[in-house]
Amino acid sequence: MSFETLGLREELVLGVKELGFEKPTPIQSEAIPLLLEEQSDFVGLAQTGTGKTAAFGLPLLNSIDSTISDTQGVIVCPTRELCLQIEKDLNNFSKKMSWIRVVSVYGGANIALQIRELRKGAHIIVATPGRFVDLINRGKAQLSQVRVAVLDEADEMLNMGFKSELDAILSATPAHRSTWLFSATMPSEVKRISRDYMSNPKELSV
Ligand code: AMP
Repeated sequence: MSFETLGLREELVLGVKELGFEKPTPIQSEAIPLLLEEQSDFVGLAQTGTGKTAAFGLPLLNSIDSTISDTQGVIVCPTRELCLQIEKDLNNFSKKMSWIRVVSVYGGANIALQIRELRKGAHIIVATPGRFVDLINRGKAQLSQVRVAVLDEADEMLNMGFKSELDAILSATPAHRSTWLFSATMPSEVKRISRDYMSNPKELSV
């Protein structure tokens, strides 16, 4: 399996090659072709270190419509550090698609600056749950054109008590969006999220 055969745009293949990724990891070669179809919901049981960021990041970047500046994808993750890492990875993957705007928003940082960044336009928002809900409630994140919501480290977010925030975020996005959930473990609370917000998700365990 090679990055060329997964169905990704050439710019993204070039982007990962420049990072030194020679071939897709197992989760990437399984998930990317599925997620490029976009219409389907997805549950990936995967630990950090498996290459899961590219597994959801590449198909998400691939799906962004350059002719509209609206937010088309959201990625929700448990910590500020992970938010910044995902933002950096997405920017690296999309070096050859420099028009794509990825904005990260997280707690413990100046909200006015984040609002300013969002106002400039964000094709993809990477967010921690609490700060994201705050921005949504203030009307600073427009989610009506979101087609994909990614929940990364869903078990961690639920362990940290972010259940109602996840409910609020998913409810603020269109019901017909796709939901891609990644989790290292599958406790009943994670199963509930997948039951409540996903229809017949494809499941993958690596
Ligand atoms: P992740 O599981 O997304 O946190 O990725 C773990 C590490 O593997 C990161 O440092 C990535 O840059 C790296 N990585 C991801 N995919 C590949 C790949 N296909 N080839 C080489 N390294 C990769």
